[in-house]
Amino acid sequence: MGRAGADAGAALGGLTAMGDAVTTADLAEWLAEFARPVDENKDLLTELDAAIGDADHGANMHRGLTAAVAAIDEAAVATPGALFKKVGMTLVSTVGGASGPLYGTLFLRLGGALGDAEQVGPEAFAAALHAGLDGVVARGKAEAGDKTMFDAMAPALDAYDAAIAGGSTIPDAAAAALAAAEAGRDATLPLVARKGRASYLGERSAGHLDPGATSTALLFQALSETLSGAPATTGG
Ligand code: ADP
Ligand code: MG
Repeated sequence: MGRAGADAGAALGGLTAMGDAVTTADLAEWLAEFARPVDENKDLLTELDAAIGDADHGANMHRGLTAAVAAIDEAAVATPGALFKKVGMTLVSTVGGASGPLYGTLFLRLGGALGDAEQVGPEAFAAALHAGLDGVVARGKAEAGDKTMFDAMAPALDAYDAAIAGGSTIPDAAAAALAAAEAGRDATLPLVARKGRASYLGERSAGHLDPGATSTALLFQALSETLSGAPATTGG
């Protein structure tokens, strides 16, 4: 009876052939794909932050992601967990302000949740994303409707969960997450900011999209494009 475990162990040898899982390479591509539209949209992100903050969100994100992409290239990370930890540490150390520690924490917690796994299945990815969001909340105390990145991130994760629970593949769930992140970003337009620099403006923060919710929508755009096998560049 005690021998049954040996058969189960042998079966694990075929793990890399399993279908719906993402690899370290997929996730490294996600990061590179996030860096690209952030670069292309850094003026937009900065304009949004100029309206309700201090006009540095585009520069902050561009600096952090450029460093993160270089760091994972250089470190030749072996697992998704190691990759996300590297990204998180790089963001924390290269980006000042609110968004560095918040995005940094997101990725550090993602990495921590994934441990030493070689690749990530649908539920494990969901659990890791939730651990990341919990980290963002632990650090920034944002709640729904505060006009922050939370307002794009939380609906994206809910949509991802619902899609996976309904039997979707990871790429389809990522597409659902993107639609929800964009809707969440757009819903920040009329909100009065209650967290971060924008909250200093009070009522005057209404009528502008939140910069962090806008960059978070780009994060999910990158995820969806990477996992659906869309071309890595727009060819422009
Ligand atoms: P800073 O506000 O320090 O200049 P950035 O401009 O890079 O940093 O980032 C601003 C974004 O950070 C905001 O648009 C918002 O989405 C996000 N943010 C600020 N404070 C919080 C918070 N407490 N919780 C979650 N997100 C926050
Ligand atoms: Mg700013």
